[in-house]
Amino acid sequence: MMRVISCVTVEHNLWLVLVAALVCAAGSWATIRLFLRAHEATGLQQIGWHFLTAVCAGSSIWCTHFVAMLAYEPGAPIAFDPVLTIASLFIAIAGTAAGFIAATAHAPRLAPIVGGAIVGLAISGMHYTGMAAYRVDGIVEWNTTYLVASVVLSVVFACAALSVALNDRIAGRKYLGAAILVVAIVSLHFTAMAALQVTPMVTRGDYTDPAALQAMALGIALAGLIVIGTGLASYLIDDRSRMEAFERLHHLAMNDTLTGLPNRTNFNEHLDREITRAKELGCQLAVIGIDLDRFKEINDIWGHSAGDEALKALASRMSALLQDGEFIARLGGDEFAGVKRMKGQSDILDFVSRLETALFTPIKIADVETTTGASLGVAIYPNDAQNRETMVNNADLAMYRAKANVARRVCFYEQAMDEAVRANRTLANDLRDAVENAQLDLHYQVQTSVSTGDIRGYEALLRWKHPTRGNISPAEFIPLAEENGLILPLGEWVLRTACAKAASWDRPYKIAVNLSPVQFAHADLPKLVHEILLVTGLKPSRLELEITESTIIADKNRTLNILRRIKALGVTIAIDDFGTGYSSLETLRAFPFDKIKLDRSFMSEVETSPQAKAIIRAVLALGQSLAIPVLAEGVETHSQLSILRAEGCNEAQGFLLGRPAPFGEIFALSQREDVAGAEDYRQIRQAVA
Ligand code: C2E
Ligand code: MG
Ligand code: MG
Repeated sequence: MMRVISCVTVEHNLWLVLVAALVCAAGSWATIRLFLRAHEATGLQQIGWHFLTAVCAGSSIWCTHFVAMLAYEPGAPIAFDPVLTIASLFIAIAGTAAGFIAATAHAPRLAPIVGGAIVGLAISGMHYTGMAAYRVDGIVEWNTTYLVASVVLSVVFACAALSVALNDRIAGRKYLGAAILVVAIVSLHFTAMAALQVTPMVTRGDYTDPAALQAMALGIALAGLIVIGTGLASYLIDDRSRMEAFERLHHLAMNDTLTGLPNRTNFNEHLDREITRAKELGCQLAVIGIDLDRFKEINDIWGHSAGDEALKALASRMSALLQDGEFIARLGGDEFAGVKRMKGQSDILDFVSRLETALFTPIKIADVETTTGASLGVAIYPNDAQNRETMVNNADLAMYRAKANVARRVCFYEQAMDEAVRANRTLANDLRDAVENAQLDLHYQVQTSVSTGDIRGYEALLRWKHPTRGNISPAEFIPLAEENGLILPLGEWVLRTACAKAASWDRPYKIAVNLSPVQFAHADLPKLVHEILLVTGLKPSRLELEITESTIIADKNRTLNILRRIKALGVTIAIDDFGTGYSSLETLRAFPFDKIKLDRSFMSEVETSPQAKAIIRAVLALGQSLAIPVLAEGVETHSQLSILRAEGCNEAQGFLLGRPAPFGEIFALSQREDVAGAEDYRQIRQAVA
């Protein structure tokens, strides 16, 4: 305390001391916040925040000092030197600016200490300059110990304040830092005042009017609070806009932009939370996988913007039906998923039926009413799965089953049924890798003339050596590849490889390659065939493409058009597995096939079943009258071959004549008669002849 003076005045102006304390606390609180913002910012923004911090800190320290000084009535006339008073404010602002800038330098340990020390010195410098401006009629004496102690205290506490504020491991560092800064300012002030002793020289009682001093103190406090308020307001405005920007980004990251529904990330987080909750409460939870059935059609017919409209309409319908504990998200494309808290079966049935109503009520697109329809699959925690991934997978499996079954819109997960689907999906995934990892190979099966035994050509048959399951039959993996579109790259690879190998043979045998119906639906097949023939240098007449009847049935006009274009290249077309599918005479009339391949099932029964023999005879007669050569598949015995010869069949293919084998083996057998096995082969061919 300013001894002698203080004993006269403390009582009177306690409320002014409180005002000083308020300015100091508010100022420190705002200062630390602004300072931390300056610390996070960079470039020009950082300079701006530093400026606000220094103005806020400097004015609060200065105001605190002057209001506290004016709280004392010295019992003697007082006056202020204007230059020193203004200089003290400048020291406070410039000094703290230097301190705060130093504290944000790239030296995490040292910077807060150096910066804090400068701030402490600025507080002291401001105080003593302010004291020098304070003129009182009396004898002034200074106590050096208190003086040094005051500077040390303010430096130490300011260092502590900045170190705490910048240490993000301290919880509530903003408040603690501000509180220590208050201590730095207050301890300096009171210790410095204790260093000063004034003995008043006044006897006549002509003091400065206390009311005028109080008014001045209040004015200063108000100005100080306005400055602090301005700094704080900037901080709050910035805080708000930062929060809004964050919320906007968060919303974008968690929601689908088209429909506004929660997206996959959001769905995953929600489901994780719900599973944890269901675990804790021991209750049930359902996941519903939803896939629209005819969405692609809408896109194809009316364009993508119509597709978007349909998605938006369905999304808003689904979100409108949600009740407590229900959640719908768009996972991507035409794929949605729901989550439902449930107590019993009736809960989920009710939710699913509401979803069905939303999805199956017609929507209006381009003035036309249409229904996309959907397939839904349900998996329930804890019966069907215990974690998010399995829940979603199992709901998907059930959904695929619903999709495959025209009569059912909703399927509940059933382990036995859906495990087969899962195995197939795993295999399909493996197949995707198989193409890249060179696990695929082509085998070649000879096709010979029945009358002469001469080799006419070879059929290329795809082989897959699975790394763990070994050889897998094309009858198993080709349908899988067709389901997921993998048949396109696969089919192209087969065509390319078969043509390239055939082009390298010494003799101009034909090469027969199987085509899947899917290849007709998607790729520009004639162009591909043409390009492959050009690249491999294979003569078009040596290539024969085998298609099945189902290919023609799928989209007759389109297929026939493609077949004509391929045939125009000089490539021949065979109809494969004849007699098993629709076996419609219309098929044979629709397109001038170059070969009929009679399915091997007839051959296996030809010796025992008169019906099978009759059908073979009929097909051979048909071939003769249409001038289409017939090849019998699956010839395994000599007697089968004799029957074929007697009936006038043109060509044959089967284990008797040669099993499908890798290129190297075929080459060895046909070109080098001396290798093992070649003798058998030669004998059969002679027998055939
Ligand atoms: P496919 O085109 O009718 O091929 C003839 C199938 O009959 C081959 O089965 C062959 O190994 C088998 N086979 C040949 N001779 C006999 C015999 O004497 N007895 C018996 N029991 N079977 C015989 P594989 O190689 O298992 O192929 C099955 C089917 O998979 C093929 O029937 C074909 O539809 C399809 N496939 C094979 N490779 C490809 C391909 O590269 N692309 C496409 N799209 N389908 C292919
Ligand atoms: Mg075939
Ligand atoms: Mg066949």
